[in-house]
Amino acid sequence: MTKEEALKTYYGYDVFRGGQEAVIDALLSGRDALAIMPTGAGKSVCYQIPALLLSGITLVVSPLVSLMRDQVTQLVQMGIPAAFLNSSLTFRQYLLALDRARAGRYKIIYVAPERLETEGFQAFVREADISLVAVDEAHCISQWGQDFRPSYLNIPAFVESLPHRPPVGAFTATATPDVKADIHRLLDLQDPLELTTGFDRENLYFEVQQPADKRAALLELVKGRPGKCGIVYCATRKNVEEVCDFLRQRGVAAARYHAGLAPEERQRNQEDFLYDRVQVMVATNAFGMGIDKSDVRYVIHYNMPKDMESYYQEAGRAGRDGAPSSCILLYSGQDVRTNEFLITHSEPREDLDPRTAEQLRERDLQRLRQMTGYCRTRRCLRQYILHYFGEHAPDTCSACYNCLHNFEEVDVSRDAKAIVACIAKTGQHFGVGVIAETLCGADTERVRKYHMDREDTYGALGQLTQKEVQERIRFLLDQGVLELSPGQYPVLRLTERAEDVMYGESTLQMKTLREDRSAPARRAAAGEL
Ligand code: ADP
Repeated sequence: MTKEEALKTYYGYDVFRGGQEAVIDALLSGRDALAIMPTGAGKSVCYQIPALLLSGITLVVSPLVSLMRDQVTQLVQMGIPAAFLNSSLTFRQYLLALDRARAGRYKIIYVAPERLETEGFQAFVREADISLVAVDEAHCISQWGQDFRPSYLNIPAFVESLPHRPPVGAFTATATPDVKADIHRLLDLQDPLELTTGFDRENLYFEVQQPADKRAALLELVKGRPGKCGIVYCATRKNVEEVCDFLRQRGVAAARYHAGLAPEERQRNQEDFLYDRVQVMVATNAFGMGIDKSDVRYVIHYNMPKDMESYYQEAGRAGRDGAPSSCILLYSGQDVRTNEFLITHSEPREDLDPRTAEQLRERDLQRLRQMTGYCRTRRCLRQYILHYFGEHAPDTCSACYNCLHNFEEVDVSRDAKAIVACIAKTGQHFGVGVIAETLCGADTERVRKYHMDREDTYGALGQLTQKEVQERIRFLLDQGVLELSPGQYPVLRLTERAEDVMYGESTLQMKTLREDRSAPARRAAAGEL
């Protein structure tokens, strides 16, 4: 069976989603993999299909008892023999499951990390043919992650103890660089395929406003979407109360939700929202976990959250059904100061030594700066988000506020011809930097060293800055006109499309950041600042 046939036969899907195939191929070829994909992107398929195609048993290390049970039930319904081993089994059930596993009855076994070290399990794996170890929720191995599980630290020793080291696949939705580095190092992954993907939500529109009067701005946004349901997130319970009262006074059917309310009221308000008896839910971040309302048309943040993870998770509750939906953040400088205060004055966790506590605080401040950067950037908001999560993204998405307002289209057909000519005539031997310097007519050491100043394309784009030339080269890479060679020093190469650019009639339109015409920039240009 091929992986495509497995996808069709067991899951009923025709095509793989972004990233799935690469991870499956890596694991099938015996290579480790570290995949960062958001919840719902389809991580399970990435290890379940290799599990089906490989000859032996796949062990899935998973931290949550309830999650394991669901997954196994689902697999069994799909006709895939699977079982779980965790503390919810009685000792007899556990022994029975191990017996069956020994008899080769299961393709996939879910196991709690604590079980790996137990004698019975160790004895079983010494005899068994383990083809793959998948580590779900791999961020649990890092103390920077939210749910640190010390027992995850035993996984690499366990893998080493197996008669043949199988490939290890690590999966998580948490993408901060610290956590990613920890997973790599602490799980002892060997040259893993690293992949971050699936964070883009194409149907979401992003916008940041910095209104003088947040309430008025909020009211306008809500009134402008009559009959549509939305969530308004506030930083504090007090804010929730005030904003909810304000909206109601203005005739908006709003309900409130925060951890300070009686459970009955929380339940009632949540149901009112789920069943469309109210239009707007005003809430703290306590609202949303496990709430599956697919037609939320907008998420407005009345305050800036403390980091991009929180923001994207909350904003991402809009448009689960795939229909166009908006994520709008109302930003003010006060939000930054409040968050700074909360971080610097928070009680240090008792289980941490002072140095670690200090490092964590520094990390939180750094995350806050990145969140603030999102609110202040004039560049593409979607790109900002995707880059934050480690995913590649083009310079413009044409579907966020910044792309619709701050960018303009310029015809770069002539510039593209010059770039293609320069690469062709210099033998496709040089990287982005050298080509850009040559085209700009820069007088640098490497330009002289390679005699680029004798080329007839030297200075051909002298009217542009090097940054602008590089932007055009990146654009041509995105368009598939150019490609970069693999390896440590990637050089620019022409693709088949380069010929069209050189000799074809069609024009190339590139979106580029409009000159900054905001007030401070104008004043700066006028020499006022
Ligand atoms: P994750 O573990 O990343 O949160 P899941 O593995 O639970 O996500 O998958 C989320 C949903 O997406 C599941 O219903 C799954 O069947 C579905 N899915 C996975 N891969 C594909 C695919 N290639 N095409 C369509 N749906 C898919």
